[in-house]
Amino acid sequence: MPNLPALKDVITQHGLFTRKSLGQHFLLDSGITDKIALYAGDLKNHNIIEVGPGPGGLTRSLLNNGAKSLTVVEKDERCISIMQELSSAYGDGRLKILQADALKVNLLEQVPAPRRIVANLPYNVGTLMLLNWLDDIAVHGRAAYSSLTLMFQDEVAQRIIAAPDTSEYGRLSVMSQFLCECRYDFQLPPGAFSPPPKVHSAVITITPREKPLFPVSKEALEKVVAAAFGQRRKMLRSALKQLGVPVEELLEKAVIDGTLRAEVLDVATFCRLAQAYELMASK
Ligand code: SAM
Repeated sequence: MPNLPALKDVITQHGLFTRKSLGQHFLLDSGITDKIALYAGDLKNHNIIEVGPGPGGLTRSLLNNGAKSLTVVEKDERCISIMQELSSAYGDGRLKILQADALKVNLLEQVPAPRRIVANLPYNVGTLMLLNWLDDIAVHGRAAYSSLTLMFQDEVAQRIIAAPDTSEYGRLSVMSQFLCECRYDFQLPPGAFSPPPKVHSAVITITPREKPLFPVSKEALEKVVAAAFGQRRKMLRSALKQLGVPVEELLEKAVIDGTLRAEVLDVATFCRLAQAYELMASK
């Protein structure tokens, strides 16, 4: 392990005053970043991707804990020079640096498998990033990513892992759980970050399933879930009208009571609904 300057000094030297537009809330405690690296699982046999390394606290933990390789994707050029210094300090060629918008990068082209993503995500675009990675998983399954260990606002983490019949349960829960097993790892208070955000944060680990829960297309599931939760207070027989197929027949085929509301249907039932919809829409 190289002898590295304190993160606080790195931030001062590189003029890394935080930019709100980039969702910058840094982790300066190596106890916390080591804990994230530990929850990510095996690093030694994986090519790790870290989105938004910032001043590099989590980056150091991932390298110190033996990442086979670590590709960092960062938009802010000030962090790129920090990463270049870090790469020279380790001097082993494991750290690869991409200056790019992670929303626009094809990670599957840039980094060889097996891959894991480990990141303290910028909150403003974290959900969008996850939706992109779920698209990769829908096509390639576990071959895309062995796992994703991600920090979100706690409220978003709760939505991803939510069970039916809770106020957090919605589109993000169904689409994530259809493709992946989702585990809540731990919560962090605002004071764990510099500067502190307004809300609590949480780390979750998302592991793609061997194959999706049911043989139904992601597109069909997305359509029925969007319609059902688009009007979550309404009964299904009314909320699903916008799908453009005869609703009573659809519900009958899927064996679902039309007076129920979307939030009580579990992921398996949504998949049944999507299967029935796919059949009817293709006629
Ligand atoms: N990983 C660092 C840590 O834990 O201290 C920083 C985390 S901070 C919450 C989010 C990081 O993502 C910032 O460094 C920010 O510049 C970067 N970022 C924001 N939007 C990005 C984007 N679209 N693509 C790549 N990086 C982005």
